[in-house]
Amino acid sequence: MLTAICGINWGDEGKGKMVDLFSADYDIVCRYQGGNNAGHTVINDKGKFILNLLPSGILREDVVNVLGGGMVIDLKHLTEEMGRLREHGIRITPENLKISDRAVITMPYHVRLDCLEEERLADKKFGSTRRGIAPVYADKYMKKAFRMGELLHPDVMYARVKDIVEWKNLTIVGGYHSDPVTVEEVLEYFKTYGEPLKPYICDTGLYLNEANKAGKNIMFEAQLAALRDIDFGIYPYTSSSSTIAAYAPVGAGVPNLKLDKSIGIMKAYSTCVGEGPFVAEYFGEAAERLRALGGEYGAATGRPRRVGPFDVVASRYGIRCQGADEVVLTKLDILSDYDEIEICTGYELNGKIIKEFPYPDALNYCKPVFEKVKGWHCDISACRREEELPEAARDYVRLLEKLCDCRISYVAVGAERDAVIKRG
Ligand code: GDP
Repeated sequence: MLTAICGINWGDEGKGKMVDLFSADYDIVCRYQGGNNAGHTVINDKGKFILNLLPSGILREDVVNVLGGGMVIDLKHLTEEMGRLREHGIRITPENLKISDRAVITMPYHVRLDCLEEERLADKKFGSTRRGIAPVYADKYMKKAFRMGELLHPDVMYARVKDIVEWKNLTIVGGYHSDPVTVEEVLEYFKTYGEPLKPYICDTGLYLNEANKAGKNIMFEAQLAALRDIDFGIYPYTSSSSTIAAYAPVGAGVPNLKLDKSIGIMKAYSTCVGEGPFVAEYFGEAAERLRALGGEYGAATGRPRRVGPFDVVASRYGIRCQGADEVVLTKLDILSDYDEIEICTGYELNGKIIKEFPYPDALNYCKPVFEKVKGWHCDISACRREEELPEAARDYVRLLEKLCDCRISYVAVGAERDAVIKRG
């Protein structure tokens, strides 16, 4: 069984929690894109964990975790993340963590370039997480990046260092007038943070193919979400990688395998970190109230998230892009405080109501159309069966299911692992 767990909205839907829960039925959890630019927060019996690079399956003893070739890996960040988990008693060995030899290495100069560019942009900045993600993906496609597998072939790698450093300095020194990168600091980075990771590096495509043949269940865990996808998202306010479920087999290293299922994670309201058009956005008191109720601050950066009500137009588009067979509706409990709940059911563009998500540039001219439904106004976080939910909450779930035209198979009502309702 090959399943992708992906985000339907702008990210931060609670994918980490759901992967953590679902991983009980999987032998392998594999990240297939992105880097340490987002964070999954997982709360379970072992504690509270923020995972930026490691798959959420790392918190389960018997799950093998894979960092796929579509990823970009900051070696220092990974080393520190592994260290933090080990301090909490989490076992991480080459047996339960495998890093693709095709994955690209995020270098300290990528992080520096990311910061230099955001500073240059000043008030026109993109809201980058400054983790070097755009510069490293750019280098990947320029064929000037280092890959994990090169750590196993140091002669080839070291021969490229001088040329790449020279080339990078054309931009860093020539363009940004910043201090040059040196060959020595690059070699030092590989020695300090690359060498110890060598035992974990392998051909994860081969590993996953063999595991699949042996009948193992494999889950692909996406970072970010449909509206942040480099091709289908709100470009240029997107991430630099493909967050789409269909990319999972490619980014994991198994382009020959087909997904059996795509499960979308969709939030009961909307949040968006950083810049870019966000049609259904709340401002002022309405925003502060929802942000406080949902604790909407970025896991990786601590930045306050922009918030708004559930957006049917964007979510339907997200479901289509992800080819979602079913969705999990998360954070329903956060809406318990409201007497009436707003839903964005359409966008008004040039005097017309549209229901399909437009080309991103048109979003700047769209106005949200809000409709109101009755709230339930009571705590639902202890509910574990659908019948236990108040009628208004059940109606809200049914309404979103109908408006989005996709089955809602689970509803999450709290941050804890078991705070989930499986629908009949
Ligand atoms: P991810 O990147 O998609 O995994 O999302 P984040 O981890 O950034 O944000 C999700 C946050 O919401 C985390 O702190 C989760 O523990 C929490 N969370 C997930 N599902 C629920 C839920 O149903 N209710 C509540 N209250 N919190 C949830």
